[in-house]
Amino acid sequence: MHKRLFIPGPTEVLPEVRAKLTIPPVGHRSAEATALGRSVVGKLQRLLHTESPVFLSTSSSSGLMEACIRNGSLKRFLAAVSGAFGDRWYQMARLNGKPADALEVEWGTALRPGRLREALSTGRYDAVLVTHNETSTGVMNPLEEIAAVVREEFPDVFLFVDAVSSLAAVDLDFDALGLDALLAGVQKALAVSPGMAIMAVRERAVERARQVENRGFYFDFVRHYDAFQKRQGITTPSLPHMAALDLQLDRILEETMPVREARHRAMADRTRDWARERFALFPEAGYESITLTAVRNTRGIDVSDLNRRLAERGAVISDGYGRLKGETFRIAHMGEIRLEEVDELLGWIDEILELSG
Ligand SMILES: *Cc1c(COP(=O)(O)O)cnc(C)c1O
Repeated sequence: MHKRLFIPGPTEVLPEVRAKLTIPPVGHRSAEATALGRSVVGKLQRLLHTESPVFLSTSSSSGLMEACIRNGSLKRFLAAVSGAFGDRWYQMARLNGKPADALEVEWGTALRPGRLREALSTGRYDAVLVTHNETSTGVMNPLEEIAAVVREEFPDVFLFVDAVSSLAAVDLDFDALGLDALLAGVQKALAVSPGMAIMAVRERAVERARQVENRGFYFDFVRHYDAFQKRQGITTPSLPHMAALDLQLDRILEETMPVREARHRAMADRTRDWARERFALFPEAGYESITLTAVRNTRGIDVSDLNRRLAERGAVISDGYGRLKGETFRIAHMGEIRLEEVDELLGWIDEILELSG
């Protein structure tokens, strides 16, 4: 039996979108492939309210995180670390031999614009890495305020944003935020099967990249920019993923982002109310994610045990991430999941744990 995914990625994929993964291969330099590339890029630009270049990558999101590391700085990165994914970005900089410092934020709390201002005021950095929605802690960082500080007070510092678990749940305006890059995999709120990632990039980030040495091959901004202009891949792309994404983007744009965001908010509200009554929330108040709820495991429940019982009903939730395993558990309400399904899940958990509000 298929277990419905209430985990923060991968998420449920609609059957008609999944069916696109079986399209027959065509040449990746063919007119059909180029037309598909043009279509997907155009829809992603609409989704992000931008005409900036959009890169398509046959990799998971982490590949494009590494791309930002390889291309994004001529001086020193500042990585905001408020959880495991922020830490991944910081470690990537180190592993690639790039100068970088971590701006440590207590896990479960949000990055405050004031702390960023203080760090950037040192003049040490020309690029900052921010995780919008920290999937490991369930905290959504205040991106608008963060972006305003960088854009208005440090216009020469480039801002790279991991929006892996927020894009297509939060209505993100790439140009208004003034970002230099925003990346996401397709398997989270975009709700496509895993295997592809996308990134909007501002032209000035491509210009800077031209000056960066040893950008490598697969994640070179300049090479991707040239491919973008031809609406083709840098190498052989996964056209089936592009076809699936193309259809799913139609559905997202048809639902419209304001409606989609409101749907995510409603699911988050419901899950938070449930969690507050029976457990407690892990994130600090006011910064809870709208795509997943991280619950403080105040009753010391065995999450694997709970998942075994949920499996019998055809659902699965997530344990805490990394060092938060056991201490927290996570219920995702992301992508194509609906409020009625969240209600059904919460009812099952009550039944299994013999809880009531
Ligand atoms: C899932 C996730 C990633 C990693 O994504 P992959 O596609 O597995 O590489 C990175 N950042 C955040 C915030 C995530 O939620």
